[in-house]
Amino acid sequence: MARFLVTGGAGYVGSHVVLALVERGDEVVVLDDLRQGHRAAVPAGTELVVADLANRARLAEVFAGWKFDGVLHFAALSLVGESMRDPLRYLSENLNNTINVADAAVKAGCLRFVLSSTAALFGFPERVPIDETATLLPASAYGESKLMAERALDWAGRVHGLRSAALRYFNAAGADPGGRLGEDHDPETHLIPLAINAALGLGPELTVFGTDYPTPDGTCIRDYVHVMDLADAHLRVMDKLCAGGPSVRYNVGNGSGYSVRQVIDTVERVTGLKVPHRIGPRRPGDPAVLVASNARLRAETGWAPRYPELDDIVRTAHAWRAAHPQGYGDRGAAAQAA
Ligand code: UDP
Repeated sequence: MARFLVTGGAGYVGSHVVLALVERGDEVVVLDDLRQGHRAAVPAGTELVVADLANRARLAEVFAGWKFDGVLHFAALSLVGESMRDPLRYLSENLNNTINVADAAVKAGCLRFVLSSTAALFGFPERVPIDETATLLPASAYGESKLMAERALDWAGRVHGLRSAALRYFNAAGADPGGRLGEDHDPETHLIPLAINAALGLGPELTVFGTDYPTPDGTCIRDYVHVMDLADAHLRVMDKLCAGGPSVRYNVGNGSGYSVRQVIDTVERVTGLKVPHRIGPRRPGDPAVLVASNARLRAETGWAPRYPELDDIVRTAHAWRAAHPQGYGDRGAAAQAA
């Protein structure tokens, strides 16, 4: 049994990782400011510290209160579009908060760190599938902020011996197959939940962002990876760090791509409902195809996706949303917590 600090552990990916850790018997302390996270996403019996990562004194208290075997850092601003309207806020908050957590961890002698990173590091890639040797050239301030966070961890490694794993996610999707957790963003910007909401009548009709891409059906292709498979990748890399392994950087995706039209077709087939949609213009900044090479992650950690089929991803996402039409039902709670 080990004890981990999980920042952003009440959010979408973070909460699925917390559940996976708790289910295998680890102890978790969640640190979340509940701006995007949900109290109800934290398992009963798991400690939740409601705090802002800008508060270095509070962070020091948390590290003084518990001895952690490692840190998993999810808490971040994560909307690409928003980052292009307010780039300096993204760069400042995501970099500074990562530095604050890493600094508190180093000072407490906790030298294992897993960072939630992103495929946005690669911008418009020269080739697909995208492996870890691809050029790091973010096309958004969000991607840049995560690249800077990775680099800060590199320096903490060189100087302080912090060993870190950065997982560059492709498109996280799906939900806990046990139905306990799901995806509840405000605002929601991601394709699969938006398509499901449209099908269920819980949201507006979907707009397809462009049908003139150089792909077989003209719509963008993305690599949707099940959130449980992402969670599994986090546990594997943390276990390797705990076993003394070196710092690593991995791309985490299914390795196969699906177009926007294929997603719509899958949602319609799985739910038996129509997805009301219309064709709109391209969204600025969208590359035509983003697909991961997961070869390095597979070879070095033994990871393989357990839910590689888009049907399973959509089925679990739909099941949670159909059972929770209002999500976690705490809209407005974040404002109170702030
Ligand atoms: N997309 C779309 N309509 C939407 C939201 C997304 O057509 O309302 C497309 C988007 O252009 C991209 C894909 O769906 O090709 C996945 O977008 P998402 O925002 O979910 O993730 P991203 O790839 O931007 O991280």
